[in-house]
Amino acid sequence: MRTFSSDNPATIMEVCGTHTHELFRTGIRFALPNWVKLISGPGCPVCVTDDKDLAKVILMATNYDLTVITFGDMIKVPTPFGSLASLRSEGKNVQVVYSPVDAVKYAMEHQEETCLFFAVGFETTMPAVAAAIKDRLARNVDNLFFLVNHKRIVPALYALFGSGRVKIDGLLLPGHVSAIIGSKPYEPVLSKYDVPGVVTGFSKDQMLRGINILLKLIVNDKFDVINAYPEVVREEGNKKAQALIESYFEVGGAFWRGFGFIPDSAMVLKKEFSDLDAETQFPVEEPNVSPPPGCRCADVVLGAADPPSCPLFGKTCTLQNPVGPCMVSSEGTCAAWLRYGGAT
Ligand code: SF4
Repeated sequence: MRTFSSDNPATIMEVCGTHTHELFRTGIRFALPNWVKLISGPGCPVCVTDDKDLAKVILMATNYDLTVITFGDMIKVPTPFGSLASLRSEGKNVQVVYSPVDAVKYAMEHQEETCLFFAVGFETTMPAVAAAIKDRLARNVDNLFFLVNHKRIVPALYALFGSGRVKIDGLLLPGHVSAIIGSKPYEPVLSKYDVPGVVTGFSKDQMLRGINILLKLIVNDKFDVINAYPEVVREEGNKKAQALIESYFEVGGAFWRGFGFIPDSAMVLKKEFSDLDAETQFPVEEPNVSPPPGCRCADVVLGAADPPSCPLFGKTCTLQNPVGPCMVSSEGTCAAWLRYGGAT
């Protein structure tokens, strides 16, 4: 049996940004004993999107006079080339949608515009983007193109453990992503690093149940991957959604904030769909970007730094005037710490 103390706490990483916010909002984070430490992982899609990829969208929109369509949080993320919001204030057309099929609808209703849908997100979002591509092809919406920036969580976990930068005793695994991929894909990576994991839902009861199971595994020094969200997650995941994803996307590599390049960590458009791939249709030079001075988002997404260790936290970087994506995003760790008081 392992023993822990406030000096040597059992460290649980919640991989998913929604868990980060819900653990704060429900007060669970504040109620845990001092021998348990929660740290946040790389599960916020806006936060892990590399500045280079966002800068590319801005350059494409500028160079080719495109209408950019994307999800809400993405438009406020600053880059050295400005943000999509600043582009909009300069008169460019930037549209926010809640669902990828709305991008198809917008492009159909605005045939005179050339539209680019910037698709970000983990496996949770991929089926909806695949459905939008299917819809676009079925309706011949030739003025809509896709810049696909989808990320896969399991290769990021390999990179996270491989980096050796963070001590992790157990993982609270993301319920939404697991609904698509299942609980099984976590087993090889967690078994390699001998770290237990529990797939967990998002209600107060579900999170408490997940943490309880995980702490028992950690204290008893037992490795296992447990699905504590069986009402939504199956071991094999959602086969129908997986088939839809595989119809349009294939595995590729991607740059991640905090990690750099991770092979096989992305789903990219299949070559046969290159005529709707913005990357092919609107080539731009690889932008040279660096993060805002002082911003520690690259460490925050790895769980290697808590937000208050950033010199900008709550000073020049606030919810009203965010400097980095971890403050911009509604799933961002810095936003959660500032919104809910930031206790450990
Ligand atoms: Fe980045 Fe702001 Fe967080 Fe600092 S406080 S790490 S600048 S988002």
